Amino acid sequence: MGILSLPKEETNRMIVLKFGGTSVGTAESLKNVKKIVESLDSDAIVVVSALGGLTDRLIATAKKAASGDSSYVEDFEAMAKRHFDIIEDVVHPATAPSTLNAIAPLLGELRRLYDGVSLIADLPERTLAQIVSLGERMSSVIVADMIPAAHHANSLDIIKTEKWFDKNIASTDITESLIRKHLSSGPYPIIMGGFISADKDSGEITNLGRGGSDYTAALVAAALNADVLQIWTDVDGFLTADPRIVKDARVIDEMSFVESMDLCTFGAKVIYPPTIYPVFHKNIPIRILNTHRPEAPGTFISDHSNNDGRLVAGVSALRNEAIITLRGHFASDKSRVSGRAFNALSLKGLTPHLVAHSDSLNAFSFVVSEAEAFQTVRLLKEEFAPELVDRSIEVIEMKNCLASLAVVGDNIKSAPDLTTRLEEVLENSGIKVIAKAKEASETNITFVIEDSDVNSALQSLHAELFNS
Ligand code: ADP
Ligand code: ASP
Ligand code: MG
Repeated sequence: MGILSLPKEETNRMIVLKFGGTSVGTAESLKNVKKIVESLDSDAIVVVSALGGLTDRLIATAKKAASGDSSYVEDFEAMAKRHFDIIEDVVHPATAPSTLNAIAPLLGELRRLYDGVSLIADLPERTLAQIVSLGERMSSVIVADMIPAAHHANSLDIIKTEKWFDKNIASTDITESLIRKHLSSGPYPIIMGGFISADKDSGEITNLGRGGSDYTAALVAAALNADVLQIWTDVDGFLTADPRIVKDARVIDEMSFVESMDLCTFGAKVIYPPTIYPVFHKNIPIRILNTHRPEAPGTFISDHSNNDGRLVAGVSALRNEAIITLRGHFASDKSRVSGRAFNALSLKGLTPHLVAHSDSLNAFSFVVSEAEAFQTVRLLKEEFAPELVDRSIEVIEMKNCLASLAVVGDNIKSAPDLTTRLEEVLENSGIKVIAKAKEASETNITFVIEDSDVNSALQSLHAELFNS
């Protein structure tokens, strides 16, 4: 039929496809997107990101405008031209005038926002959210107009968020019913922008966080009980390591939801971490595919992954981490100290993601992102003020510029010596292990190392695990 020969489980009733910025960056890749969508046999919702690199550009230009640099105008013009050129290349000449009519007011809005930011010399968060939303608002219109049979849906009417501390998080119940209302009957294919959303109460434009188009697609797939979620990107699948760091990383044919969740949580950029949960919950498989090589089988992620008993699926690293250590005899009571610390942090929406093992009895350590480290220490100082006064906690320390390294695989528990073996590999490569995950997890082994050691650590571990 089409250019794709999809496995049987994917030739189904309803599928959700997500094309990232890397798939919609150029006219050439957009033409691949068109072929892929037009070759489908099923009803489809297509979620698209902004043109590749545009979100970064929108943000950089906004910062420029706020800083008083008038060259934001040229940046804006270059972005406008990029959209005009793409429209000329990919939209049929008969449709192009109406596409241009739809894009013109969006570009007008963008220009007014930049002028406003420049005038007030400030960049409020809500204005930045409006600015970045224009990337997906424009790309989704272009993709919808490029595919004659397609219809456009406005994500701002469908994907709703609510405030959770200082973050915007998906308002899942409302979003689920809006997805059903707007997207459960065709005509298909329906094209919508990923990443962008609106506050459920105020209607203000928000977003799901950088890389969040994957999450939009997962919310849609889960609400519609899709048969599969396809994530189309610029590599042949989920790889055993970041290919930009480990040149001989290879495609993982099949993996479990838990493995993919672990690797993404620990920095594998191929899927935005919150994406897995909604589809995992509904048992909807994910396939990672390459827009530039649609014939490649990609990676199949499901709950019944056939992994032939392999120990490790892949390795990944989460950068910009900090380790927080409480020292003193009170810290030796690990369960009490962790209970109080984590409770105090969770009340402010902070989420330590790793309890680290330390050799000292009187120390309790855990890992947070650097962005949350200062606030974490401040809250702990408040929580443990009495203990700091009576010296049962002597000090609360913070060490920045670290990375968490994760080795992930469903069968890791069956190799109890693996942690020691890998630690030796790291040490033999001159890499100091600052801490390791305290409780051996069922599915991953985690080491905390200096951020500057990340590349060589990934390369050494990958060579040990996959090339020996
Ligand atoms: P998209 O624009 O499609 O969302 P992203 O840049 O967000 O693309 O994610 C794809 C990129 O993720 C790949 O180009 C690759 O360089 C990077 N990446 C990092 N780790 C992995 C991994 N383990 N497997 C595959 N890709 C990875
Ligand atoms: N365009 C957004 C970003 O660059 C969302 C996405 O691509 O998933 O972060
Ligand atoms: Mg992405």
